[in-house]
Amino acid sequence: MVSTTLLREAALVDGQWRAAADGRVFDVTDPATGAKIAAVPLMAEADTEAAIAAAAKALRPWRRRTAKDRAAVLTRWAQLMTEHADELAELLTTEQGKPLAEARGEIGYAISFLTFYAAEGQRVRGEIIPATAEDSRIMVLRQPIGVVGCITPWNFPAAMITRKAAPALAAGCTVVLKPAEQTPLSALAIAALGQEAGLPAGVLNVITGDAPAIGRALCASPTVRLISFTGSTEVGKLLSAQCADTVKRLTLELGGNAPFLVFEDADLDAAVTAAVLSKYRHSGQTCVCTNRFLVQASIVEEFTHRFTAAVGKLAVGNGKQPGVDVGPLIDADGLAKVAAHVDDAVHKGARLLVGGAPHALGGTFFQPTVLADVTPQMRVMREETFGPVAAITSFDTEEAAVELANDTRSGLAGYFFTNDLGRAWRVAEALEVGMVGLNTGFLSVEVAPFGGVKESGLGREGSHHGIEDFVETKFVHIGGISSPGAAAGS
Ligand code: NAP
Repeated sequence: MVSTTLLREAALVDGQWRAAADGRVFDVTDPATGAKIAAVPLMAEADTEAAIAAAAKALRPWRRRTAKDRAAVLTRWAQLMTEHADELAELLTTEQGKPLAEARGEIGYAISFLTFYAAEGQRVRGEIIPATAEDSRIMVLRQPIGVVGCITPWNFPAAMITRKAAPALAAGCTVVLKPAEQTPLSALAIAALGQEAGLPAGVLNVITGDAPAIGRALCASPTVRLISFTGSTEVGKLLSAQCADTVKRLTLELGGNAPFLVFEDADLDAAVTAAVLSKYRHSGQTCVCTNRFLVQASIVEEFTHRFTAAVGKLAVGNGKQPGVDVGPLIDADGLAKVAAHVDDAVHKGARLLVGGAPHALGGTFFQPTVLADVTPQMRVMREETFGPVAAITSFDTEEAAVELANDTRSGLAGYFFTNDLGRAWRVAEALEVGMVGLNTGFLSVEVAPFGGVKESGLGREGSHHGIEDFVETKFVHIGGISSPGAAAGS
C-alpha cells in the first residue's frame, strides 16, 4: 500500500476530479505483489470530448498570459514535486515496479522538464525578416499550436508526463493527457500538484481509460492540433493513420532496438559497467535500453566473461526493498515476450550463460539473462525484447559493425565504446539513430534533444528543440509603410 495524500481515484477534467460518464472503473495493481492499489475511471469517447472542450475553453486565457506568468506556475509546480518527491517515488514504484532509487531518479528527471521549460518558454522568439519592397515589412510570429493530445507509456509514468506537458504549457497550449492503464496514479498525482501550483481549470486535463476509444476521439477532433505520443511503434503507426483526416501534427517517440558496439581499443571496464547499466536499468524496460551487444571478435570472450560475472551479481526483488537492482516486469504479457525471445534464441543455437527463466520469486520477475552467439535471425536481434536479456554477438571490422548496427527498421539510441578519435567520429556519424552514447551507457537529460529516426519516431523532446512542435509559425506581411518623405508628398 502507499502512504500518500496524492493518490487520486478520479480523472481531472476542467479543474474537477471526475468519474467516467458511465461510472465504469478499472483496477491498478502493484506488479511486485499483484495487489490492487486503486481503481480509476474507465473513460471513453464522451469523457474525452468533454476534456477536449475544457482544454479548448481554457486555451485563450492561458495563451494570453505572459510567458513569464506561465513560467511562474511551472516553477511552483516543480517546487511542489520536489517537496513531495519521496511520496511520488514510492507511488511510482508501487504501480510500476522499478527500484526506489530509480523511481527517485525519475522524479528528479520529471521535475527537470518543468524547470527547464519554465525558462525555455520565455525564449520562444519571433523574427523580423528583411523585406523585398521598401514600403513593406515581414514579421514572423511564434504562437502556441492550440489544444494538444498527449498519450504516454507505463515505463516512465512521471517523466513522460512532464516531458510533454511542460513544453506544451510553457508555450501556451492546453493539454488532454492519457497515461498508460498500468500506471495512471503518478500522472494523476502530478496533475494534482499542478492544480495546487495554480494551473487554471481545463489547462491540464488527465483522463484514464479505454485507450483505443480515447485515442480515436483525440485524433478525430479538429480542435486537437497535435498528438504527442510515446509508446510502441505499432500504436504510433495507428495514430499517424488516424490523424491524417484532420492533418494534425505528430510527435512520436516510439520503440527502439539499440545496438551497443564495443571495439577492441575500448576501455573494457568502462564498457562493461555501462553495458550493465544500459541493459538492466529498469529491468530492461526502457526504449533506450541496449537490445543488441556487438563486440569485436578479438575481445568478445573477455567482454562476455566480465559482463556475465557482473550480471550474475544483480539482485532481483521488490523495488521497495533496499539493494534491489532489478524489479519485476510490468505484466504477464511482458514476461511472456521475454521468455519467448530467450526460447527462440536458444532454440536457434544461442548459448545461455546466465539466467534464462522466470525468477523463483514468481509473478513477473525474470532472471537477468545473458545469451552469447546470437545471430540476426533470432528475435532478440530483430525485435525490442523489453526485458533483462542481453544478446551478444561479434564482428570483425568497423564496417561490419556499423552494417549490423543499422540492420533494423528502428533508430532510437545507439552506444559504442572506443578510444580511437577517428573511429569515434566515423561511427557516431554512421549510426542511423537519433541519439548516440559514445563511451557512456546513459543518454537521458532534459537539456538534450531526445528522439529517434526511421520507425523510432518523429520530432524531439527535451532541450530547446522540444518546444518546437508546440509552436506554430505565422508570417505577417505589412504593406503601405511609405518613407516620411513620401508621406510629406516630396
Ligand atoms: P503502447 O502499448 O504503445 O502504449 C503506450 C500508450 O498508448 C499507452 O497509454 C496506451 O494505453 C496507449 N495506447 C495503446 N493502444 C492505443 C490505441 N489504439 N490508441 C491510442 N492509444 C493507445 O506502449 P507501452 O507498452 O506502454 O510502452 C512501451 C513502448 O514504448 C516500447 O516500445 C518503448 O520503446 C516505447 N517507449 C518509447 C520512448 C521514446 O521516447 N521513444 C519512451 C518510452 C517508451 P493503455 O496503456 O491504456 O493501453
